Amino acid sequence: MNITFWGATDEVTGSMTFLEIGEKLILVDAGMAQGNSEVERLNALKLPFEEKSIDAIFITHAHLDHSGYLPRLVKKGFRGHIYCTPATAQLVKVILDDSASLVDENFYSDKEVVAACHMINAREWNWPVKIDDSTFTFIPAGHILGASSLIIESEGKKIVFSGDLGRQDDTLIPAPSPCPEADIIIMESTYGAKERKGNAEEELENFLLELSRKHAVGIIASFAVARAQMLLTLIYEYLGTHPDNKIRVYMDGPMMKEANRVYKRFAHLTKRPEDLFQALDNIESIDFVRQWNSIKRKEGPLLIISSSGMLTGGRIWRHIQNWQHDPDAVLFLPGYQAAGTPGRALAMGERTLEGPREEQASWSGKVLVSEAFSSHADQNELITWVSKENTKARVFLLHGEKNSKKVLEEKLKNNLLEVEVPFRGQSFKI
Ligand SMILES: [Zn+2]
Repeated sequence: MNITFWGATDEVTGSMTFLEIGEKLILVDAGMAQGNSEVERLNALKLPFEEKSIDAIFITHAHLDHSGYLPRLVKKGFRGHIYCTPATAQLVKVILDDSASLVDENFYSDKEVVAACHMINAREWNWPVKIDDSTFTFIPAGHILGASSLIIESEGKKIVFSGDLGRQDDTLIPAPSPCPEADIIIMESTYGAKERKGNAEEELENFLLELSRKHAVGIIASFAVARAQMLLTLIYEYLGTHPDNKIRVYMDGPMMKEANRVYKRFAHLTKRPEDLFQALDNIESIDFVRQWNSIKRKEGPLLIISSSGMLTGGRIWRHIQNWQHDPDAVLFLPGYQAAGTPGRALAMGERTLEGPREEQASWSGKVLVSEAFSSHADQNELITWVSKENTKARVFLLHGEKNSKKVLEEKLKNNLLEVEVPFRGQSFKI
């Protein structure tokens, strides 16, 4: 069996790993590289295998950096099966529909999105897929709705792909299943160098209290999938228990609305189905231009949740531009900010911003950055996940910035694990 690493080797995004098992070519995740134009150029590279020779693709979860390349593979001739959990299948559709509206139509279009979605075979957790003599089983990975790790049993070996791992104490999503004893583990390292700081509920409460006291406008830059549903649940709960703090809350993002629909349908997979339902049903969504025209002249306390989470596109720009000169306005970034994005620049102290469509803004209000809302396991959680059952596995680290991988590599080596940090295109016989 051979494994060839392709995406997420030198960056956090673009997960894509090939496995040659006997006659079959399997791909685990088909993610888009996201970030600045230099990172996104990676999406145009020729793959190490012909797209049409891929037999099956396993998608660990719906995020664009794990599923966004699927329509491209279809466009280039992939005709096999795509496997993921039922919740992932529905979120993948939401994410790919949005992606098709953003990418160049020569890269892919709605047509390939529809075709890719038709190729999906949804599989529940712990329900193995058999291909020749190998079995592929999804288990819960926490992180976002439907997210999975993948266990492959083949040629007498057990291989585990972590996918993106969630935290132990996520507001909505139950903790990941522990990593079983395995021979090979391919794991993410996004927060390999960091322990999560802060308390999400507390930080959100302080932010809402400030908006209420100062009659200020707050804008939250949120990822449309997972982060938005978590925030909406917490905000709705806070406003329900603090009736004196009257803040009008609007959600602005068509993709967010679609993701809400899927979260409601699969609410039983979350820890708080009732609260989630209530929040998503009751928070107002900005749908029409007319509504926006009335909101943009409103004064605080007012809160708008909009995408994208890293300010790389979406409707958030119209809110930033509208309130950029208001010194009391607060822009809240509760998500991961990838290198090269306007969100990262803002988090690093830059206040003159440039949007993806040449939008300009000079933000004079406050900026709040928080890591407390992360849906990723932090360093300790990653180490515990992989080390609990394993002292002899060979571990490959992916999906992390250089320093995260380096720090995690050292820590895991102390736990006697053999650790490799592969580069793009590197193959190993396993
Ligand atoms: Zn993810």
